[in-house]
Amino acid sequence: MTLQGTVLTSSFSSTKSAMSRKYPSLLLTASLLAFGLPFSGSVAFAAPATEATKAANKAVLEALPFNDRQDFEDAQRGLLRKPETLIIKKDNGDIVWDLESYKTFIAIENPAPDSVNPSLWRNAQLNVQYGLYEVADGIYQVRGYDLANITFIRGDTGWIIFDVGSAAETAKAAYDLVSEQFGKLPVVGVMYSHSHVDHYSGVKGVVTEEDVKAGKVRIIAPDGFMEHAISEGVIAGNAMSRRASYMYGVFLPRNEEGSVGAGLGLTNPLGTITLIAPTDTIAETGQTLTVDGVEMVFQMTPGTEAPAEMNIYLPQFKAMWMAENTTNTMHNILTLRGAQVRDSLNWAKYINQTIDLYGDKIEVKLQSHHTPKWGQDSINDYLKRQRDLYKFIHDRSVNLLNKGYTGEEISEMIKLPASLESLWSGRGYYGSLRHNARAVYQRYMGWYDGNPSDLDNLPPVDAAKKYVEYMGGENAILEKARADFDKGEYRWIATALKHVVFANPDSKTGKELLAKAYEQLGYQAESGPWRSVYLQGAFELRNGVPNITVPSSASPDTIRAMPPEMLFDFLGVRLNAEKAEGKNLTLNINFTDIGKSYTLTVENSVLNYTEKQVADADATATLTKDTLDDIQLGAATIEQKVQSGDIKVEGNQDAFPQFLGLFDNFDFWFNIVTP
Ligand SMILES: [Zn+2]
Repeated sequence: MTLQGTVLTSSFSSTKSAMSRKYPSLLLTASLLAFGLPFSGSVAFAAPATEATKAANKAVLEALPFNDRQDFEDAQRGLLRKPETLIIKKDNGDIVWDLESYKTFIAIENPAPDSVNPSLWRNAQLNVQYGLYEVADGIYQVRGYDLANITFIRGDTGWIIFDVGSAAETAKAAYDLVSEQFGKLPVVGVMYSHSHVDHYSGVKGVVTEEDVKAGKVRIIAPDGFMEHAISEGVIAGNAMSRRASYMYGVFLPRNEEGSVGAGLGLTNPLGTITLIAPTDTIAETGQTLTVDGVEMVFQMTPGTEAPAEMNIYLPQFKAMWMAENTTNTMHNILTLRGAQVRDSLNWAKYINQTIDLYGDKIEVKLQSHHTPKWGQDSINDYLKRQRDLYKFIHDRSVNLLNKGYTGEEISEMIKLPASLESLWSGRGYYGSLRHNARAVYQRYMGWYDGNPSDLDNLPPVDAAKKYVEYMGGENAILEKARADFDKGEYRWIATALKHVVFANPDSKTGKELLAKAYEQLGYQAESGPWRSVYLQGAFELRNGVPNITVPSSASPDTIRAMPPEMLFDFLGVRLNAEKAEGKNLTLNINFTDIGKSYTLTVENSVLNYTEKQVADADATATLTKDTLDDIQLGAATIEQKVQSGDIKVEGNQDAFPQFLGLFDNFDFWFNIVTP
């Protein structure tokens, strides 16, 4: 999974005592999904599928092997227990996880509606399966309780949990379900497979920090886990969060014209994000560790699906835990919310290494999303094809770019070989072949496609005005677009009408026709994120950008785990270059609790920091990291902390307010489909 605990802070720079804000002081990408509001009534939404969309979706039904029902057998295999209905709530009653909202309309016996790509519908039908499953004697999975699976391995005295899901509440619900089946046993170990938020955030739902400190629970993670868990998504967090709201369709209703899931799973739970630092860090392939009688052999896979990730072989179960390196979908080489491009070549090499090292020893394969696989031959076949999926995307894209094709062209040209094309676990439910190919281009070649016309092109609004003028004006374009809409040429309409809307954002007709085109593209999309992106775009064209206050969703664990350097890096990004023009400020900061001191300087419209303190600073502040964290978390303002004496300022008393006045607060609700 690619979401990350994303920390945004608006309060650090706040010099106003009132902490009123249009967006939260801390905003976690995962938990921003907490404001997925049920829309109804007055909100304009959803036209039916057109004939062109029906035909496109029917073609999918004919092209793919829908009579192959093995995945449905696998998804239901070993079911031990499940509640009749599944809604997980916080203590205060807030809903964390509502499987019912999906389950009521995505039943196994329901054929795909006209408005959903049948392949995505099939994926959604698999994702709504839920309960406690026996994977092998001693290995159990709770699925459908979270975006991620929560896996319980039976040790001599208790459980070792492989990935604890996205929220304390869902993890606890999973543990409760396991305890109902087997009686209450202690959790003696937790393994974080990688640094993404849906794999560690549930930890405090199953263990306490005290038990970890007391040595009763071991927490095992790959090398680099903490650094990446905390850092990924901080610097560009606001933009990533906003785009994640598109990608995960958090505002979309859950129905046949709305969200049917995210491909990797249904959606993100809206619960409490927690984090406990690992007690054991694993760095080498082949390294072994035995916890409570369970032997684990590690395969490190850094720089694949996540920067810090590892697979685990469990000899006594002949079981291979694939983390998120293989799933039952084509994963993202580049996620649509924005991220650094992943290395598909590296990814393929590590899957190949899995086959080499453990292929002849595996009887069952499981991972943190989707269902397991059984049988050595079928697992090896699966692993080879997963490997070749990522290898093909890489090699073919690079082959074509070396022939001079651009990312846009490669995306259009690339086609999987038949042996991979018909593979259900290789379909683009989460990533897509189209955008992954462009990601490979981006990794090697960057944003510039080599054509001089694209080096210094006009920005969107200026270009749009000229396009509209050259194309004979808005009405002429709309007339042509209506005709093309009737022919089902939605992709082109999306391009042409983007210019109309950017040239004239008040064009109601233009926006509505563009929304209709997006909607049909969404209905045809096989990828859950693509569907959500189009449908959210249509929604915002019709209703405007949602004008709602994002509830503050702080994750104190993440904030407190952030080193000062990371906060200063983010502060540098928030510096307003115009306000900082010509300013020269030097501030010393002493953290008394962590014994660290820094000097922050603003000059040349840039913020730098160093641990080397200067003697002639404009001011010196002495405080604890805890105090800074309280401010970050919105628990207090800087003024309050100065007044209470928690922050002591020496030197020029105006220097700090001046400094704090230089920073931007990023607005979450920036426009996307309009200028
Ligand atoms: Zn994940």
